[in-house]
Amino acid sequence: MSAETHLTGGCFCGAVRYEAAGAPRSLCYCHCESCRRAAGSPAVAWGTFDRNAFRVTQGTLAEFRSSAPVTRGFCAACGSCLTYRHEARPGEIDVTLATLDEAARLAPQMHVWVADKLPWVRIEDGLPQFAATALPRAEPKH
Ligand SMILES: [Zn+2]
Ligand SMILES: [Zn+2]
Repeated sequence: MSAETHLTGGCFCGAVRYEAAGAPRSLCYCHCESCRRAAGSPAVAWGTFDRNAFRVTQGTLAEFRSSAPVTRGFCAACGSCLTYRHEARPGEIDVTLATLDEAARLAPQMHVWVADKLPWVRIEDGLPQFAATALPRAEPKH
């Protein structure tokens, strides 16, 4: 994708819409318990954008703090899980890949927090798996 890539997305009910410029990085499935509970799903697919490249274009992102350094954004009307921010990564925001309008084009490239994975989830896609974060950063991703 080019630097001019402009992605849009939104929640299930349409109350919250967002756009993001540039290509997302670190496309992954996160199997951590926090993501599972936040989304009500066995894993959550995320992509990372520069925070200043992301903006809500309609409605309001409801937020809650899922752990001391982590704020998760969602739609207060329908509950769609939309964003993730970690205080240790102030310049970035993670967005749920499944809420992008062009979700089919952006496939996760790895599995993270596999140590938390539910035993009945079978990973058979050949993608790299990491027990915790895959990122070369001091802080945990989720
Ligand atoms: Zn909604
Ligand atoms: Zn997670």
